[in-house]
Amino acid sequence: MSLFEILVIPAVLALEYFFPKRKTVFFRKGFVEDLGYLVLSVYCTPIVTDRLREILVRPHGSGLSLKFSYEGVAVFLAGLVLFDFLLYWMHRFVHSVPLLWRSHQLHHSSQELTALSALRNGFFEDVFILLWVTTPMALLGFDRELLNLLSAILPVHGYLVHSNIRFPKRGAWISRVFCTPCFHYIHHLKYLHHAYGQNFSAIFSFWDRWFQTVTESSGQVELGFQGLESYPRNPLARYIYPARFRRPSA
Ligand SMILES: [Zn+2]
Ligand SMILES: [Zn+2]
Repeated sequence: MSLFEILVIPAVLALEYFFPKRKTVFFRKGFVEDLGYLVLSVYCTPIVTDRLREILVRPHGSGLSLKFSYEGVAVFLAGLVLFDFLLYWMHRFVHSVPLLWRSHQLHHSSQELTALSALRNGFFEDVFILLWVTTPMALLGFDRELLNLLSAILPVHGYLVHSNIRFPKRGAWISRVFCTPCFHYIHHLKYLHHAYGQNFSAIFSFWDRWFQTVTESSGQVELGFQGLESYPRNPLARYIYPARFRRPSA
């Protein structure tokens, strides 16, 4: 977790407290649980992912690095778009491949969306991001510094799109380009999981429009997924849930 991310969390929580979009109890059920996922993502997941990153991503790529120049800005923007494109497809895979979906269920276990819901990320997904997004970009020549910056932007954006902050209505046009809290809220609606999900975009929302996986609005409000009732309740059990042996049903 980056220092920037550590500073962003209390700022977003303060905005949720003073300018909430939906009426909710701030210290709701699940608040402490979300903080538990914060501890797991800071202390447990990096034991594996940091080592893997060191092995898979070279410090210096083939010149595609951060520089204060027009060329550097172009490389950063190209990297951001490619990074987000790969994330879009990764998100589609985690909804349709059973093992990955078992990991991603943790993210969809929130029954109220707040900034801290972004912390509910399965271990397998963090590894999958490294293999599916970071490593191919490193092979294309993007260096570790740039990839670390893109990896740091993603969770910060995640806190905003999951947040319960009342944004000005005048900014509605932003969702034509960027994924917003309203846009991502639809992704968490329970009934949409019948169709393996909608609104998969992470940073830019246009991927969903181009690949026809967008739902712009919905009268539904219930969050979660089919089968949430039988999903483990203990946070640690949820974290290791995808790795648990399941006896095939007779
Ligand atoms: Zn999802
Ligand atoms: Zn989400």
